[in-house]
Amino acid sequence: MTISLPDAVRADTPGCLDSVFLDSAGSSLPPRQVVDAVVAHLRREAEVGGYRAAAERVDDLAAVKESIGRLVGASPSTIALSDSATRSWCDFFYAIDLSPGDRILVSTLEYASNAVAVLQRAAATGAVVEVMPVDSSGIVDVEALEKTMDDRVAVVSVVHAPTNGGALAPVRAITEIAHRHGALVLLDACQSIGQMAIDVGDLGVDAMSATGRKWLRGPRGTGFLYVSDRILQNVEPRSLDLHSATWTAPDAYEVAPDARRFEVWENNVAARLGLGVAVDYLLELGVDAVESAVRERAEYLRSALAAVDGVTVHDLGEHRSGIVTFTTTAADPAVVRSELHARDISVTVSSRSSTRLDMTDRDLEAVVRMSPHCFVSFDQLDVAVAAVAAL
Ligand SMILES: *Cc1c(COP(=O)(O)O)cnc(C)c1O
Repeated sequence: MTISLPDAVRADTPGCLDSVFLDSAGSSLPPRQVVDAVVAHLRREAEVGGYRAAAERVDDLAAVKESIGRLVGASPSTIALSDSATRSWCDFFYAIDLSPGDRILVSTLEYASNAVAVLQRAAATGAVVEVMPVDSSGIVDVEALEKTMDDRVAVVSVVHAPTNGGALAPVRAITEIAHRHGALVLLDACQSIGQMAIDVGDLGVDAMSATGRKWLRGPRGTGFLYVSDRILQNVEPRSLDLHSATWTAPDAYEVAPDARRFEVWENNVAARLGLGVAVDYLLELGVDAVESAVRERAEYLRSALAAVDGVTVHDLGEHRSGIVTFTTTAADPAVVRSELHARDISVTVSSRSSTRLDMTDRDLEAVVRMSPHCFVSFDQLDVAVAAVAAL
């Protein structure tokens, strides 16, 4: 299988041909190979039942973790498949031991689901939540962070690419500081996986959560967790089942030695196979090629939007993802979204409640979000910008 950018990818993505799809940060368009794999497995389940159908695909199912491992530079034994990024993030976060006075560090760009979990656990354990300092560009200020670190920091939560803008976090620098003080680093790679190269060894993180449906272009209801070998043995999940643990004697159980301890037995096998196909598709395409195609489109969009009267582009930082956010004096973000939907241009709105700290700091209630994947043509970007200009 050789796939070229962007023509072959466009041909594999029927949905992108007639409409302008700018919501890969929400839920992307899967390649037809992914859809075919999912549908074929559902049909097979209807013929022979879910157990036999899964048994027939046991090698392909094992290969899903191998593919993900190849994508992020990790061994398959450090990958746990799940049904969402939030599930994976929480499974790890709730497994961390916290005592009164322990410090949990988050960034201003923390995602709401993570923030709620952090607050719940802080209330239950007496740990304290603190926000890492930012520099003038709104990015974590690593020098200022270094000064605030001490050995009470138990865990640092880093969002690689936030949901509400293009800013990329200096993950490696944060990890180095955190590790000097014995803190764990949990990376939310939901908006970076699939659109840029990620190597967990280079980043040095202890754990990482990701979703299937966004830039990876996998099915909904898929996600995964990476947990480093260095710490895997020290984190026992808060809930277990007969897949993550074995009932070894009437009064004893053993937790799985690898990342499987963070999985549950029951799962959507068709979706999982689809996720594997999505990852293989990306690997075949080349993550670097996708990364530069996405970056080129996002930068093109930012400059074109910024040139429209009344439009303000809101993306922070110098190193940016494929997420482009803006507001316009012509209409509220929700109105912009519905006007664009009426022209078959898919965009979404990111509101304050998803990233409350940053949006409050910047006095923003909501922004329009455009997230072009590599299959979007430049002509289509022009169509979207013209539609904004016509509001
Ligand atoms: C979408 C998103 C999540 C949550 O992913 P789910 O698969 O919906 O659980 C987490 N973090 C960020 C930054 C996101 O954009």
